[in-house]
Amino acid sequence: MTPIAEKRKIPLLDLKSLHRPIREEVIAEMTRVIDANAFIMGEDVKLLEKAIAAYCHVPFAVGCASGSDALLLALMAAGIGHGDKVLTTPFSFFATAGSIARIGAIPVFVDIDPATFNIDPQALAKVIERHPDAKAIMPVHLFGACADMDPIMAIARQYGCLVIEDGAQSIGAEYKGIAAQSIGEMGCISFFPSKNLGAFGDGGMVVTRDEALAKKLAALRVHGAPKKYFHDWVGINSRLDTLQAAILRVKLKHLDGETAGRQANADRYRALLGGAGLPITLPQAASYQTRHIYNQFVIRAPRRDGLKTFLQENGVGSEIYYPLSLHQQVCFAYLGYQEGDFPESEKAAAEVLALPVHSALAEQDIAYVCELIRAFYR
Ligand SMILES: *Cc1c(COP(=O)(O)O)cnc(C)c1O
Repeated sequence: MTPIAEKRKIPLLDLKSLHRPIREEVIAEMTRVIDANAFIMGEDVKLLEKAIAAYCHVPFAVGCASGSDALLLALMAAGIGHGDKVLTTPFSFFATAGSIARIGAIPVFVDIDPATFNIDPQALAKVIERHPDAKAIMPVHLFGACADMDPIMAIARQYGCLVIEDGAQSIGAEYKGIAAQSIGEMGCISFFPSKNLGAFGDGGMVVTRDEALAKKLAALRVHGAPKKYFHDWVGINSRLDTLQAAILRVKLKHLDGETAGRQANADRYRALLGGAGLPITLPQAASYQTRHIYNQFVIRAPRRDGLKTFLQENGVGSEIYYPLSLHQQVCFAYLGYQEGDFPESEKAAAEVLALPVHSALAEQDIAYVCELIRAFYR
């Protein structure tokens, strides 16, 4: 392989660089919360809920302790429980199906569209014919690109299913001009540090247009008590910390800038890698209009593991999201799925590689990563 001229160090995500310009402002806000001594359900949580609701163009948002809990709370609020079927994708982070199984419901998997990595509406239409009693559909907007929501919503209406969007990776993404998370009955957001809007720890939120669901969600996160010590439901303890809310209020102001930076970097990759005769596949444009927020820039690569090692050896971080489909996870063996059941999901798991795309990257950083990729396949 051709040696690379000048070695650089490029982590997949560089939070230190991303936080540098807002460090002082965030510290001032943290100091304010510490001095106000309101750590649980403080004013900042309410203000952040308002701000995120406005950002997603919905009237209600309910903060909680993580994106995983957002999914769990949404399922609980929908009244989904033991033995209920929820259709979802096998190509996602574990929490998608984990939340369904955790409340005693049954994840029913549907293969993905290889172009978008998201649940395939045609496959969904077929699978739901065999499960007409399904209670909900949980599409994921993976990597920050929207699932094809129009046909998904049409199928949900036909079968009387609720739609709970796993928008953990997709804050700011839009489907035909409409905010992801705002299309189904509930949308779930994660503030895990590696998401586009990341806290300094865990955090999550559920957004909805339905006031009754919002009220139930707000109660479920405090052990099901709409009024303190009076419990209408058996809920959980899943509150968003005031400190995290204060930090997120600062970071929200910079979210669109962060997204624009990621989109520009995605364009740079396309310009440098597209048409270069490489055997890799770049993220494809969906057949519908969408605003991709590039929580991850994911290519398909032959000899993927070798490429990952080669990048690592040359200072570049990359990651495999996700190396094993959910239907093949040990903990889901009881569901009875087998290898080969979801060929597109399994193929993706063998080929995908996420490259650095965050906004603190310099143009030369992207050029360097592309030079390495070209060298690897030379
Ligand atoms: C991150 C993520 C979650 C879970 O969010 P946490 O805040 O880490 O609990 C759920 N679904 C998807 C697709 C995710 O990427």
